[in-house]
Amino acid sequence: MAESDPSCLFCRIVAGEIPAEVVRRTEHTVAIRDIDPQAPTHVLVIPLDHHRDAGSVGRSDPPLAGHLLADAAAVAAQEGVEGAGYRIVLNTGAGAGQTVFHVHAHVLGGRPLGWPPG
Ligand code: AMP
Ligand code: ZN
Repeated sequence: MAESDPSCLFCRIVAGEIPAEVVRRTEHTVAIRDIDPQAPTHVLVIPLDHHRDAGSVGRSDPPLAGHLLADAAAVAAQEGVEGAGYRIVLNTGAGAGQTVFHVHAHVLGGRPLGWPPG
């Protein structure tokens, strides 16, 4: 399901109906600062098309899943965290902490990131 969903928060941000601090745009994604940052750099990379999660986009549009990763890496470079290391997180399903069911990659960096995550 790739059409825009008017009840979806990130579809509305993509459409410009809800304001967000946009840090980067491509023909496939928009990148915004997370409203509740968990690290000095915390950017969400959001595909323009609506897919509910990483599994859905990976199955139904593998090229878009690739663009999502490439654009996340480009955000890390733009934010200056590429050299020190950063994390790309795709929470998938409520049990894994997903709260917005429009796939998005968290780009986290700017502080040491432990493993395993808490
Ligand atoms: P997840 O829990 O993986 O679904 O991630 C959803 C993320 O969206 C959380 O980190 C929220 O802080 C963030 N978020 C929710 N609403 C907004 C908003 N209006 N603008 C920017 N980030 C948001
Ligand atoms: Zn959506």
